[in-house]
Amino acid sequence: MLRHELQDYLNGYLKVEEFKDYAPNGLQVEGGDDIQTIVTGVTACQALIDEAIKLKADAILVHHGYFWKSEPEVITGFKQKRIKSLLKHDINLFGYHLPLDAHGELGNNALLGKLWGLQDITPIPGLVRLGRLAEPVAIEDFKNSVSKSLDREVLHLPGGKERVQTIAWCSGGAQGYIDQAIEWKADVYISGEVSEQTTHLAKECGLHYFAAGHHATERLGIKALGEHLAEKFDLQCHFVDIANPV
Ligand SMILES: [Zn+2]
Repeated sequence: MLRHELQDYLNGYLKVEEFKDYAPNGLQVEGGDDIQTIVTGVTACQALIDEAIKLKADAILVHHGYFWKSEPEVITGFKQKRIKSLLKHDINLFGYHLPLDAHGELGNNALLGKLWGLQDITPIPGLVRLGRLAEPVAIEDFKNSVSKSLDREVLHLPGGKERVQTIAWCSGGAQGYIDQAIEWKADVYISGEVSEQTTHLAKECGLHYFAAGHHATERLGIKALGEHLAEKFDLQCHFVDIANPV
């Protein structure tokens, strides 16, 4: 498959034009013209690039790419090493950030809702989703099932009732959206990362909060996107999980 064909397909499928993002979505570093083998992963760190080189990948497809609005514009230090490795091995880098959180089928948030068996899902304006468990469950049981589903012990900041049913969630560094979960009267809010103030907000506003891991909550989308590409086109896709406790 040609690079520009893959780029056109992904940009259309993920509706990148609908998003105002903090980093460019789509092709970020240009490699070879022809793409047969793709490595997918959460973040385009050096360890992921090294694995892609070993697997002779033509492209890397990630959720967290480069050129974030807040970062220095110069290409020095670790950034130079990463980009040099890509260019030297002719590897294309594609990054899809918010479009991959929000996508209706393969988005991180859509897949988390499915993973936890949530129903009647309401998209709150923005990225947060609200859904319901089939019936109220003990908070401890729900916490254990979320931990099990992500293969990671979630951090539970208690604040709400003993039995819960309405769940709001948003993958990644979305702890600040707890305001929306409060507004929509969720029993539990789940995101990836946590802040000091989240503890107090949960307690004072009467909802439970789970920090389920930034990395852990953002593996699903990019992995599913690779599987989708492998199925739809004649491509080899390998999901490489570089462990991250945060
Ligand atoms: Zn993220």
